[in-house]
Amino acid sequence: MELRGMPVVNALNDKLKQDILSLSKQGVVPTLAIVRVGEKADDLAYERSATKRFSSVGAAIKIVELPLDVTQQQLEDTIIKLNEDKSVNGIMVFRPIAKHLDENRIKQIISLEKDVDCMSFLGCAGVFIGDKNIYPPCTPKAVVELIDYYGIDVCGKKVVIVGRSLVVGKPLAMLLISKNATVTICHTKTLDLPSECKRADILIAAAGQAKMITSDYVKEGQIVIDVGINMLGDSMCGDVDYENVSKIVESVTPVPGGIGTVTTSVLLKHTVESTLKSLKNKA
Ligand code: NDP
Repeated sequence: MELRGMPVVNALNDKLKQDILSLSKQGVVPTLAIVRVGEKADDLAYERSATKRFSSVGAAIKIVELPLDVTQQQLEDTIIKLNEDKSVNGIMVFRPIAKHLDENRIKQIISLEKDVDCMSFLGCAGVFIGDKNIYPPCTPKAVVELIDYYGIDVCGKKVVIVGRSLVVGKPLAMLLISKNATVTICHTKTLDLPSECKRADILIAAAGQAKMITSDYVKEGQIVIDVGINMLGDSMCGDVDYENVSKIVESVTPVPGGIGTVTTSVLLKHTVESTLKSLKNKA
């Protein structure tokens, strides 16, 4: 079975459209500010697809474009202004930012209430202590949304995650532990990775290595979730060798059309939730 992202997106959007409609009756449009330093092709592509997804349901994206030679002070002033801007409900900063800028300072000053992609240190801490009031990073949350949508019960199951980054692997492990999964995190120093992966009930690839999870890493009955986004020439592929792995396992997410598709809707969901919370706090 192919675990496609689009049905998850449609289910999420149906619910969000109702919230957005009721907000619009109060004259409020959920708005995400995206801060971009320079003009990286990947950032521009993400910006375009997020803008399309947000506007299709009546939410908005405000692009804050800064030149590549922006100073640390200018960047910090921009974030502080967005923190205070009542028309902005979420803030996302494209990372990694230019080398001359101190990303850690931004992680300290970005408002926790508007931190819809979990950039702040406090947001990260919240994921690790299981604080339900923070917004987990969108990609790990997209994995959880997909798992929930397809009714995959992770309670007591062996989950193996390949990748230990702060953006995907580690927070994802925390989210799944809180759903009572038994989680193993693997990385480049893991001994005998194929055997570790074969032990999993649910295998999640987030390594950023094109098609590295081959048929040697999987067994019958497994659920395989591919978070990877890699370019092989002109075509996009995941970390899973889909063609061969899909013949063995029970179900697998495609790339493109899998987790990446869900991630933008999670960003939208967090922005809408942040808007609703700010109105509630005002009342
Ligand atoms: P990073 O490069 O930050 O981390 C990769 C992790 O994978 C590291 O922990 C690394 O181990 C591990 N790893 C790499 N190669 C191997 C290997 N051969 N064997 C075992 N472990 C390995 O990547 P990210 O976490 O940022 O992203 C991972 C993937 O997810 C990328 O393809 C990225 O494009 C994609 N992505 C997808 C998103 C989406 O919306 N679908 C959003 C964000 C990312 P070590 O720590 O030892 O170096």
